[in-house]
Amino acid sequence: MSTILVTGARGFIGKALATSLVNMNHWSATGAAGMFRRSFSPSARMLCATLFFTACAAVAAPPDPPPAAVRIHSVTDIGHEFTFYADGRFYGQYIAGDGNQDARNWGTLHKCSFKNANLLVLLSGATPCPFTTKDIAATRKLLEEGGGVLVLGTYGTFRDQKEYQLNALARAYGAEFLKNTAKEPCHATQALNAKEIKKSWPCSLIRLDNPKEWTILITDADGGALMARKPVGKGALLVAARGLFGCKPDASDPINAEWVKPLLRDVAKNKKVDPGAPVEGQWFDRSEKHGKLTLCYSDYTAHEADTIKSLYDKCMPILEDIFGVPPIEGAMTGLLLLPTGGGGFSSGNNIGLGIWWGDFPKNLYPMIELIGHEGAHSWVLPFGEPFWNEPIATYIGALAARRMGCTKEADNIIYGNIARAKKLDPDMTKYNIAHDTNVPGEVGWGKAMWIWEQMRAEKPDAIARYFKAKRELAKPGVLKQYTPDDCVAVLSVAMERDLFPWFRQHGIMVDKSKATIKMDKVPAAKAEQ
Ligand SMILES: [Zn+2]
Repeated sequence: MSTILVTGARGFIGKALATSLVNMNHWSATGAAGMFRRSFSPSARMLCATLFFTACAAVAAPPDPPPAAVRIHSVTDIGHEFTFYADGRFYGQYIAGDGNQDARNWGTLHKCSFKNANLLVLLSGATPCPFTTKDIAATRKLLEEGGGVLVLGTYGTFRDQKEYQLNALARAYGAEFLKNTAKEPCHATQALNAKEIKKSWPCSLIRLDNPKEWTILITDADGGALMARKPVGKGALLVAARGLFGCKPDASDPINAEWVKPLLRDVAKNKKVDPGAPVEGQWFDRSEKHGKLTLCYSDYTAHEADTIKSLYDKCMPILEDIFGVPPIEGAMTGLLLLPTGGGGFSSGNNIGLGIWWGDFPKNLYPMIELIGHEGAHSWVLPFGEPFWNEPIATYIGALAARRMGCTKEADNIIYGNIARAKKLDPDMTKYNIAHDTNVPGEVGWGKAMWIWEQMRAEKPDAIARYFKAKRELAKPGVLKQYTPDDCVAVLSVAMERDLFPWFRQHGIMVDKSKATIKMDKVPAAKAEQ
């Protein structure tokens, strides 16, 4: 599935949800000595050394004192562009550890309090969300107080827009991200003292209005700036090409961490924070109650709120008809408008929709499928589906879209997936999609959809029958987990026939004797061939 992250069936709650999903990596506090060195001017270092020598002349020299601790309380902005990388991975790669904390800004930046924060991380690409005058003023206030502001940019414009939005903020401080990218090799200047410069993708060059105001830290082969800092108020502004930092979804690429970590401590060091109090982020700052549903968004995404809510309202009764049951109590109570074209997520209680997904609002099919897909992840609760959790979500999204008139697109998704699976498993007997770990993705998706097509050919309301039976039989008090065996037992009850032999004939080796759910009223199947 092309969604940025889709999860099923877990009871994550509100603000904590995405953080809980992030596979945080923590690093030891390497580079602390480097930070100490950079924290003092050469003359100050000499002064320290002299005093030290005088005081200790008669005794053996003790080891170097530890560097002054800098506690970082960062706020990472995901209000201008939502990415899972910004939602925890950047923090995990470059800030976590040593008692540091991070919170996220989901909303309109200038409404976020930076009271107990000393580092603001801004990283956005081709988003249409503007950095407003008030947003820029909020960053300036933080800098005046001694905080650090990290501006990581990759030049890009949203659809037919002319401007790269982050440049409005960069220009306010005399910098601008350019369309041109860096030429190899890139160098760290002496001020950075980095042995190696790695890149995750092409780096946008940065034009500086007055280079003398800046300390340039990294340049490309032609001397163009890729990273530079300058003091603003008591604080420090650091502008850098986004490509100098990691990007992998599993946060396995903490490139340049050995010099980024001490640099960030240095940038944040002039604003002391209270380590006993949490750093505050901001949830969506605008919300509307619609019955049980709360629609959450920000100033930047307000213009899409009505359009998406209206489509969501059209989808819900259709989905409920397909499922045959309403969502469980507490599920799907929040609809979050995410500033991204990259997909969505479900946390049970909330579903997040990337509001520019699939060229919305120009194209409707992808957004309907996404609403259906993320809705399905919540709808299947209290237990996620065991082996077809993702394909069934897209399948149901496609069925909903078909009912809303997007027949061609829905057919393309369903029959396209089945056709791709049949290329590898022509009779649908070869792969055990419930248990094997080496099942090709095409088969995992296409075979799941093919099974549901068979069920619906037999009983057109098969999905509704299945979820009604599941609600009745698969209760948290009865089951600890919902296994493939339980799933086929429930499907058998729904279809009023023992489907274990049929699944086994199709290579899916489920075992009726291992199912916790009993099929008392289902006629026994004939012995397997
Ligand atoms: Zn999903």
